[in-house]
Amino acid sequence: MTSRANESNFRSILPEEIEEGDEKSSELITRRKRTAIIVGRVHPGESNASFMMEGFMKFITSPTNPVACELRKRVVFKIVPFTNPDGVIAGNYRVSMSGNDLNRKYLAPHSKLHPIVCAVKKLIKDENPDT
Ligand SMILES: [Zn+2]
Repeated sequence: MTSRANESNFRSILPEEIEEGDEKSSELITRRKRTAIIVGRVHPGESNASFMMEGFMKFITSPTNPVACELRKRVVFKIVPFTNPDGVIAGNYRVSMSGNDLNRKYLAPHSKLHPIVCAVKKLIKDENPDT
């Protein structure tokens, strides 16, 4: 994964100047960290999504990439890398084992037929309890 990110990109994520190693600053970072929820491969036939997610996870967990290190300081990444494995196992192109396009079930998911949609919605709701 390549990146053209530079310091100015990070200012929009957390504008305050943070001193490295300062305990008060690291507490501020922890409290003010934003969350990115990343959901991958809803449609089984889109196998390229798995490669993209693998690349992203390698990038964001890199202990040496300075961009990844900076992002992890400022953002909590919650990743659901593979949303529809049962659809892949069934050999479906677009739908889950229940025969539904999961991206079309977010408004009213059924807990037994679309459990991953319910779980992702809960993950989002937990991050935004006031919404
Ligand atoms: Zn898709």
